[in-house]
Amino acid sequence: MTMPSVLVIDDEPDNLDVIEALLFGFGYELHYAPNGQSAIASLDLFQPDVILLDVMMPGMNGIEVCRRIKAMPKWESVPIIMVTALSSKEDLARCLSAGADDFISKPVNSLELRSRVRSMLRIHQQYQQLETFNATLEETVQQRTAQLHTMIFQDALTQLPSRTFLLQKLAEVLQSGASSFAVVYLDCDQFKLVNSSLGHGVGNQLLLAITERLQDHLRPGDVLARMGEDEFCFLLHQIADKNALEAFIQTILQSFHTSFVVANCEIFMTACMGIALGNSGYQQPEEPLQDADTAMYRAKLRGKGCYQIFDRQMSLAMLNRLTLENDLQRALEQQEFVVYYQPIINLQTEKISGFEALIRWRHPVRGMVSPGEFIPCMEETGLIVPVGLVVLKQACQQLLVWHQQGWTDLTMSVNLSARQFACPTLLADIDRVLAETAINPARLKLEITESAIMDNAQTAIALTEQLRSRQIQISIDDFGTGYSSLGYLHRFPVDALKIDRSFVNQIQAGNCDYQVVNTIIALSQQLKLAVIAEGIETPEQLQWLQQLSCEFGQGYLFSKPLAGDDIEQLYLQEFFSN
Ligand code: C2E
Ligand code: MG
Ligand code: MG
Repeated sequence: MTMPSVLVIDDEPDNLDVIEALLFGFGYELHYAPNGQSAIASLDLFQPDVILLDVMMPGMNGIEVCRRIKAMPKWESVPIIMVTALSSKEDLARCLSAGADDFISKPVNSLELRSRVRSMLRIHQQYQQLETFNATLEETVQQRTAQLHTMIFQDALTQLPSRTFLLQKLAEVLQSGASSFAVVYLDCDQFKLVNSSLGHGVGNQLLLAITERLQDHLRPGDVLARMGEDEFCFLLHQIADKNALEAFIQTILQSFHTSFVVANCEIFMTACMGIALGNSGYQQPEEPLQDADTAMYRAKLRGKGCYQIFDRQMSLAMLNRLTLENDLQRALEQQEFVVYYQPIINLQTEKISGFEALIRWRHPVRGMVSPGEFIPCMEETGLIVPVGLVVLKQACQQLLVWHQQGWTDLTMSVNLSARQFACPTLLADIDRVLAETAINPARLKLEITESAIMDNAQTAIALTEQLRSRQIQISIDDFGTGYSSLGYLHRFPVDALKIDRSFVNQIQAGNCDYQVVNTIIALSQQLKLAVIAEGIETPEQLQWLQQLSCEFGQGYLFSKPLAGDDIEQLYLQEFFSN
């Protein structure tokens, strides 16, 4: 430990000798200055921990020296003990107001000197400890603030600016009155597939690779932020016109043309982009972001690797969509969904072999609404699962009634969407409905599309086998409109193919659709599958199908889908009278 440094400022060297003698052996390092100027000049050299300052000195007196030292931030905390022969209250008050910390009267008494020096040193030491503590505290606070800043303004994985940072930048841009900026919202297509099939570790590496690629196209001053899982956003300053923007978008799209290689996997990724332009009178930084997001959503609906520039119509469409979602939820609670039935005819005997259950929405204001208007929305929100169950239940209950009335061979076909087909509770739900209604499962047919199968390829085989082990039949709906590969037909145990009505509607001898229908019928005969033609509207179409030996058919020529009561009135009585 270094010895405390004591600086004696006195015009008379003899006084130093006295002090030196009195403090000798107590572990102090003594320094001497004969006047104020030299004392001040040598503060840095002596680094005093305490100062003994004579009051009466020629030139600059002690009070002035004291004032000057106390005015120096670096030395203000060093205690100054005034050594004085003066003892009037006024003199002491002047010393105090100059900043002095203590007094010693001349002639100096040894005990007093030592105890005052000691006590002043103690105070100084405590002060210094406090200073050090404060400095550490300040440093810690600054470090924590910086960490917090990083957490809020930077994405932990990619080190890119965060959403909050981007919003702040956007706020600055809007405040500056600039309108030539663009916000480009980018969302990777089907990124979840990477996470679920290759794991989150690979997913993260892919995100880093994507980040790197996107950063390559960042112009100086522009911002690239990570908005969430697989979402990024560019803030582009100074976009001259739509051509400049298009050029930027094209480079980004092209940058996805090359595959990404992570963890020894080659991954092809695409992304959709939504763009909001700065000239739309935005007030709040969230607004362009929201619009770009809406446009991105629109781009997604068009398919992978698409982009879309926002326009006002879109937010209207979004609003309608939101209203529809809420309406559908309410409709389910209010039991506004009803099931209609369309007869399926045996084309050789022209008798009804069964029905297809088709949902209708009895809207309190709009009347009967067709599924085309609301199924896609239900499919996206997942509402199709509970609603589909309602349809299945109603259809099975209806079938039971008709079976009980003697129409025992009738079959009931119920549509299953991709979402329903992928629902883990599907089998249990079907089992429950079968148990509740006690219908013969062999009379139940489930219609699924090719894409529903392909979307759930892994589980589809097991699921179809489970369904068939209950003797439930499976038909491929809208056959011919989905996958061109027929390979899956061998792997999926299905019972029937339904030829899409777009082919049936157009059949004429020799044209393409005729060939398609012909081929599907031949295929189903070879695979020993039943075949059902959808959308038969004219007697000519019926004739052609009969000539092609198509087994079953449905269409407006026979009947539109009707309510259960109407079916009974129209067909059941006819059945009994036959
Ligand atoms: P889909 O399963 O292919 O059903 C056949 C569609 O063709 C029905 O339309 C039916 O009314 C219509 N149709 C039948 N014959 C003719 C005809 O001769 N001419 C014309 N122009 N159309 C005919 P709908 O009822 O509007 O249903 C449309 C689609 O909505 C269905 O196509 C099916 O994919 C879906 N859908 C209907 N109900 C349900 C349901 O309960 N659940 C699920 N998941 N989807 C359903
Ligand atoms: Mg169908
Ligand atoms: Mg169909």
